Amino acid sequence: RLVAAPVVDREEAVIDRAMRPKMLTDYTGQAEAKAQLEVFIQAARNREEALDHLLIFGPPGLGKTTLANIVANEMGVNIKSTSGPVLEKAGDLAALLTNLEPNDVLFIDEIHRLSPAVEEVLYPAMEDYQLDIMIGEGPAARSIKLDLPPFTLVGATTRAGALTSPLRARFGIPLRLEFYNVRDLTGIVERSAEVLALQLDKEGAVEIARRSRGTPRIANRLLRRVRDFAEVKFDGAITAEVASKALDLLDVDSEGFDYLDRKMLTTIIDKFAGGPVGLENLAAAIGEERETIEDVLEPYLIQQGFLQRTPRGRMATDRAYQHFGLSRPEPT
Ligand code: ADP
Repeated sequence: RLVAAPVVDREEAVIDRAMRPKMLTDYTGQAEAKAQLEVFIQAARNREEALDHLLIFGPPGLGKTTLANIVANEMGVNIKSTSGPVLEKAGDLAALLTNLEPNDVLFIDEIHRLSPAVEEVLYPAMEDYQLDIMIGEGPAARSIKLDLPPFTLVGATTRAGALTSPLRARFGIPLRLEFYNVRDLTGIVERSAEVLALQLDKEGAVEIARRSRGTPRIANRLLRRVRDFAEVKFDGAITAEVASKALDLLDVDSEGFDYLDRKMLTTIIDKFAGGPVGLENLAAAIGEERETIEDVLEPYLIQQGFLQRTPRGRMATDRAYQHFGLSRPEPT
C-alpha cells in the first residue's frame, strides 16, 4: 500500500536519506509552521537555551520526522530518535534521557502511543529537567531523582486528539502540518529527481505531484516507480505522458486515490447509500482498522471534499459521486 507502508527496501532507505532536506530553507511548503519555527529557533539560539518542547501533528508522510531532524541541525545539537510503542518501560526512556547532552533533541514518533508508566516519567523531565524513577520492586523499591540537562522534546503524532491533556499541555510549541499543494509537491519531485539524476520535465513533475495525495512521501515513492516504468518502457525520460501511463498502471487514479481510497468511497456509496455510516461499520465493511481510516485514509478525502464527517458518521459528497460517474439516489 502506497500510503501507509513504512520505508521497506534498502534502496528506498538510502534514497530517502539523500532526499531528506537538512535545513529549514530546503524544507518546501508549510510556510506557517516554518515561519514560527524560524523565530523560535533564532530566539533559543541567541539565548543559548534549549528550544521549547515541540509537538508536530499531521498525517503520515508530511514531514514530521524530517522537521525534527531539521530542528536539531538548525540548533546545532544531536538528535536521539525513538517512538511511543518502542519505549516499553520507564527505564527505556530513562536510559535515553540520561544520555542527552545539553540542548539535545529527543524525538518521539507516535507519541500518542506511550504507555502511562513512561508518560509519568516524561512529565517532570519535560517540566523541570528532572528524572524521577522507581527502581527495584516490593519492599526494596526506592525512588531516585536525577538532574537532566536541558533538552528539547519533539513529539510527533498523526492525531493531536489522541494525546492525554497533561502531556499536550507540556509542549510549548504546537505545529500542525498541512497537506502540500501541487506547486510545493512539484518542487519536491523536481528536487528528488535531481538527487536521483533523473530526466524529468516540468509537466512530468506536475503530473506526479497532482497524484500524490498532498504527501511528499508518496510523491517520492511514485517518482521512483515512474522512473522504473520510464526506463523499461521508454527512453528513461519522464514526461507528463510517461508519468500518466505509469500512474494508471500503478492504479493511482486522476485524483491520486489508490485502491483503498476508492474502496472506502464506493463502499459508502454502494453499501450505505452515501452515508452517514459510523466508523465501526465502515471499518468492518472495508476490512481495515479504524485507525487506518482516521489517520491515513480520511484526512485527505475530507480535505479534498470527497468525504464529510458528520455527528452521525461519514458521508460521501456530491464530488465523490461525480468522481465515480454516479448520481446520488433520490431520498426516499
Ligand atoms: P512523517 O514523519 O510525517 O511521516 P517524514 O518526515 O518521514 O514524514 O517525510 C517523508 C518523506 O517526505 C521524507 O523522505 C522526506 O524526504 C520527504 N519530505 C517531507 N517533507 C518534506 C518537505 N517539506 N520538503 C521536501 N521533502 C519532504
